[in-house]
Amino acid sequence: MSRQYITTAIDYPNAAPHMGHVLEKVLADIMARWFRLRGDSVRFQVGTDEHGTKIQRTAEKEGKSPQALVDQNVQLFEELYTKLHISYDNFIRTSDKQKHWPTVQALWTKLEEVQMLEKRSYTGLYCSGCERFMAARDLEDGICPNHKVAPEEVTEENFFFLMSKDTANLKKLLTSDWDGETYRIIPSSREKETLSLIEQGLEDVSFSRPVSSLTWGVPVPSNDNQTMYVWCDALTNYISGLGYFTDHEDRSFWDDATVTHVIGKDIARFHALIWPSMLKHAGVRIPDQLLIHGFLTSEGEKMSKSLGNVVKPNDILEKFDGNPDPIRFFLSYEIPVGNDGDFSWDRFEKLYDAKLRNAMGNLLNRVLVLIQKEGGNIRIPDSPSDSAQSAEDWKVFSSSMDAFNLHSALAQAMKLVDVLNAAIDTTKPWSMEGEEKVVLLSRFAESLRHVALMLLPFMPDTAKRMTEQLGVSYADRMLDKDFVITEQMQQFGGQNDWKAVGEPSILFMPLT
Ligand SMILES: [Zn+2]
Repeated sequence: MSRQYITTAIDYPNAAPHMGHVLEKVLADIMARWFRLRGDSVRFQVGTDEHGTKIQRTAEKEGKSPQALVDQNVQLFEELYTKLHISYDNFIRTSDKQKHWPTVQALWTKLEEVQMLEKRSYTGLYCSGCERFMAARDLEDGICPNHKVAPEEVTEENFFFLMSKDTANLKKLLTSDWDGETYRIIPSSREKETLSLIEQGLEDVSFSRPVSSLTWGVPVPSNDNQTMYVWCDALTNYISGLGYFTDHEDRSFWDDATVTHVIGKDIARFHALIWPSMLKHAGVRIPDQLLIHGFLTSEGEKMSKSLGNVVKPNDILEKFDGNPDPIRFFLSYEIPVGNDGDFSWDRFEKLYDAKLRNAMGNLLNRVLVLIQKEGGNIRIPDSPSDSAQSAEDWKVFSSSMDAFNLHSALAQAMKLVDVLNAAIDTTKPWSMEGEEKVVLLSRFAESLRHVALMLLPFMPDTAKRMTEQLGVSYADRMLDKDFVITEQMQQFGGQNDWKAVGEPSILFMPLT
């Protein structure tokens, strides 16, 4: 049995969660579910990145402590992910002094011991709006393009992480290997982007700030006057969640697992460069792969308050009476992994009606009603051609899923639905009688059983309801974390104990 450790980026809870968070968590959840369904041992982690001046300032504005602000907002993230059926095993918070800080401070100390951290006096151009030092390439005519002001010259003491030392090694890591370790970027289009960053040359990275400018963060262990900046604090969540460098360390889901970080394209450089460099110098192995997703626009434009096109995750859930499957379907069906995508209410509603309600929901209903009219029993015939077709379908589906090609896998399952709809219109089972009719309808029911299994990682609840209506005995176990799609389940006619269908009911309600 292989082990999988899959993580998402940790979210910044200075406001409520948005659609970008939803896209990423749904993608990671589908993969985590697929790993479990194929029989892997899985650990799936999400969490929140809670420090920094933005949180500190938002809290001041709202007249509360930073801790109170994050406690209030983190709850919104946890609630949303529960509603979306994100099946995480661990939720890590960077403000957690018991679970997160010991690992972060131990990692810092290790990097200091191997002389990868150096204290320097740093003078730079600081934009207080952006809350960061700006490089010359960030400015337009000496002005911050975001805030339309000239940044101030500021001098302060910082610890720097000496990443420039690793320029050649990081290039090797991403193109071949670094002392035998490899790190794969999926999809390959995102790999080229990252390599081009290395070509520009890597700079050392500011790893801490004076306490006078940043108090809300993890203290630097060797220096009372410094607070860790985001990198060492946030990136370390992936191993603090496993208790690294503590007495409850569990290395099995790192050293003996395939480690996949699912992240957005905006933070690819930190995960592709800083993180492996930190781990290498701390004596921890480099993760296996980075799965990079794109951004979501709304009605063809960047989501922004001023355009009034911000889509709220909870509005979508409400539209479908809390059912998360339509949005899980939409994001997976519409946006190939790695691409940017667009959310449009019109397109969403059209797909819901055409694909889920009509093509799939009505097909299931028609087949079940016709079988019930004949007494409800099913008799699936021995059919070498059906068996061969089904084996081929599963082979193609599984290899798409294994390759993170979720869009193709889902499209294949939906195409199967189209094929069945066409077949039912051609064969006209309602015009038949007796045994011939029951056998033909049973073949349709059996195909729908396979469709439901394929939809299980994408739309778990829908897949379970379809299987319940079909009357298959494993239906009530399908949402358990140890449910595995066995070879027997993939065989056409493989469910020997399946004798009769259940009661049909509407799978997807019409939109009001
Ligand atoms: Zn600025």
